[in-house]
Amino acid sequence: MGPAANADVARDEGGISAALAQLSARFGERLQTGMALREQHGHTTTYIPTQAPDAVFFPESVEEVQEAVKICAEHRMPVIPFGVGSSLEGHVNAPAGGLSIDMARMNRVLSVNQEDLDCTVEAGITREELNHYLRDTGLFFPIDPGANASLGGMAATRASGTNAVRYGTMRENVLSVTAVMPDGQVVTTARRARKSSAGYDLTRLLIGSEGTLGVICSLTVRLHGIPQAISGGVCPFPSVEAACQAVIMTIQMGIPIARMELVNALGMRAINEYSKLDYQESPCLFLEFHGTDAGVAEQAELFGEIAAEFSGGPFVWTRAAEERQKLWKARHDFYWAGFVLRPGTKALATDVCVPISRLAECIVETEADIAETGLVAPIVGHVGDGNFHVSVLMDMEDKDEIARAEAFVARLNRRALSMEGTCTGEHGIGQGKMRYLEEEHGAAGVDMMRTIKRALDPLGIMNPGKILDMTGK
Ligand SMILES: Cc1cc2nc3c(=O)[nH]c(=O)nc-3n(C[C@H](O)[C@H](O)[C@H](O)COP(=O)(O)OP(=O)(O)OC[C@H]3O[C@@H](n4cnc5c(N)ncnc54)[C@H](O)[C@@H]3O)c2cc1C
Repeated sequence: MGPAANADVARDEGGISAALAQLSARFGERLQTGMALREQHGHTTTYIPTQAPDAVFFPESVEEVQEAVKICAEHRMPVIPFGVGSSLEGHVNAPAGGLSIDMARMNRVLSVNQEDLDCTVEAGITREELNHYLRDTGLFFPIDPGANASLGGMAATRASGTNAVRYGTMRENVLSVTAVMPDGQVVTTARRARKSSAGYDLTRLLIGSEGTLGVICSLTVRLHGIPQAISGGVCPFPSVEAACQAVIMTIQMGIPIARMELVNALGMRAINEYSKLDYQESPCLFLEFHGTDAGVAEQAELFGEIAAEFSGGPFVWTRAAEERQKLWKARHDFYWAGFVLRPGTKALATDVCVPISRLAECIVETEADIAETGLVAPIVGHVGDGNFHVSVLMDMEDKDEIARAEAFVARLNRRALSMEGTCTGEHGIGQGKMRYLEEEHGAAGVDMMRTIKRALDPLGIMNPGKILDMTGK
């Protein structure tokens, strides 16, 4: 199958066994080579076939990461940083074998600076662990990609999710990272100041680098005050266009929406069946507002009026935490809910992002494409950002269906690019989207990325076979 083939990435048998012997002598039981664990580290939540690394290492400090990377560099053994493996484009596969560095044991909170609204954490901490730690401070870390991902993995994929429309993505919320680079040097990319004009922006170079430039060991992130009041609800619409028009007007009117998620009619059917709910099975917006008691009520009322203008509604909203949690749990379970539509299948979960003015057109064309292709593929979107996901449910025994699904994804990416959008708003490139990078950035843009990669990782050991095809370049 296409994306994971990566036959171009060469495996160095001698180097790998020499490195493994040295790593094992140094780290003992924290270097694991059992097949089940290795496969789990090469297997992400994806339809792309597993390519297991040769060993998994659980470091406990920056110095240990540094030592391991130096040993790997000496023997040209690939290094694949690993968070929790929730990425969707074959990011943690090991096409040339190598060492998976699992950051799970580096999950401490190093400092919380309440007055400055930031904290410094080790990269293996998950977003839920961080928010649990912060629960008594009145602060929270807002980025929510649905999965309980690690902050290192989220930074490495430039993740976002349901409330990016209000709080931004990892790009806006990471102030600085400390990373072990491929030559073993430790680099801290910035101080804690909110802004800086000092030199190249190394923080943003590493955010979204998908483990191809270095291993992020810790990061300083922005925190936000937990809002005094939160309201939310679900609003049905007669069509996707009507829902998107309401989204555009809501944004244009400057209503400070915190979450605005579209689920299409097929997706609503899956959600109802999976979560035992009885929402209307037409395109729906899931919404959340953050602010004061009066503010969230006013915002919800205003949105209800906008929805009505586009024949949407009724917008039933609530401040009750339990009910809100129920509706967001249903939304967050969307990926798993999809399987009720076709049990026994695997999901090809893909995302694109377009300027919001093109969103309706892009989703409507995509729905028509799905119908013509005969695929089962519910749609969900962080539509406040112009970002939507399609989950194509595939029978993995049916080669023709897989080919149709891949051809559909190619058309979807090109549709988004033709609308001045991107082939991925938040999942990243990994193995699955490498072929679209040049179409998006042009040859000169991709050449510049290769120049950076070569300069920082001349041996090509960091997560080879991801983002950039370096074969013969
Ligand atoms: C059900 C579901 C829903 C999802 N919804 C969203 C969503 O709404 N928005 C969104 O953005 N994503 C979403 N995702 C994708 C996924 O959660 C994100 O890509 C997440 O950021 C990956 O974090 P991770 O810890 O799982 O990283 P991994 O999958 O372990 O790794 C991802 C990449 O980052 C690299 N990496 C990991 N840790 C480090 C490190 N410390 N230093 C350097 N590189 C590192 C890896 O090498 C790999 O290339 C979803 C996934 C699932 C399963």
